[in-house]
Amino acid sequence: MPNNKYAFFNGAIVPIEQAQVSVMTNALNYGTGCFEGIRGYWVPEESQLFVFHLRAHMERLHRSCRILYMQLPYSVDELCAITLELLRREAFQEDVYIRPLVYKSDPAISVQMNGLKDAFTLFAIGFGQYIAGSAVRACVSSWRRIDDNIIPSRAKASGAYINSALAKTEALLNGYDEAIVLGSDGQVAEASSANLFIVRNGALVTPPLTSDVLEGITRQVVAQLAQDQLGLKVVERPIDRTELYVADEAFFCGTGVELKPIVEIDRRTVGSGAVGPVAGQLMQLYSDAVHGRIPAYRPWCTPVYEA
Ligand code: PMP
Repeated sequence: MPNNKYAFFNGAIVPIEQAQVSVMTNALNYGTGCFEGIRGYWVPEESQLFVFHLRAHMERLHRSCRILYMQLPYSVDELCAITLELLRREAFQEDVYIRPLVYKSDPAISVQMNGLKDAFTLFAIGFGQYIAGSAVRACVSSWRRIDDNIIPSRAKASGAYINSALAKTEALLNGYDEAIVLGSDGQVAEASSANLFIVRNGALVTPPLTSDVLEGITRQVVAQLAQDQLGLKVVERPIDRTELYVADEAFFCGTGVELKPIVEIDRRTVGSGAVGPVAGQLMQLYSDAVHGRIPAYRPWCTPVYEA
């Protein structure tokens, strides 16, 4: 059960029981919303909670709203301030997941984005691993990724997650941990809720942002860590399905999944079948970065509490 006590709702922090919407809410009926998923990491040695890349997430929320004709009445700075205020009120001393949501709040039987009222809410919950285990088994989904001219992947749109949910459900029911979803062109796009990298001949390879993927913040972080800290080449190019089967390593990355090595795809062992050296090093670097342990990346971590 979620352990939060409050939500930011209709312009104020209220007890979570009061943050309720009508069954007639347009967004509940049609998926007309967009959201973010942000993590905060509790660092006991500093008695501090660090929110990772808070600004970047709020900037992406604004971009989602722009694509979806939604009005967000708060600036990026105001959204960051609301987040910190809510977290302080909750007084969390554990890792958290933060969920800002913009949604069409009108009780309207009307399928359109313009002319309907928007609302904003934000809550945070204590949160551990999104996918259990140190490595995962994945399958290529029979579902295709929605493309930019259907529901734009670069907008983190609520309704678009039906696509993610179908892919994930199929994977789970077939005994896998996660789905890899191909784009309508038949090339690798991403996972149900994470981006994907493979390692080939010592280089990190990931599909470009024009491959119907979310413009992942972790994807960007991983690329920078790989280049700056490991001196690796990072290549953005289309990835064929069968390249997954011959990759030296493969891993998912995202705010929720963090870095998650893939040890099997479609019943073929990836690399040695164990966590590979590149994924292993990047996981350590990522963990150090999100906990504020790498001075150069400390600006990525916003402290919640007074020092
Ligand atoms: N793709 C999808 C479909 C996602 O839902 C997510 C999670 N937000 C990601 C990629 C990873 O994005 P980020 O690293 O910004 O969390």
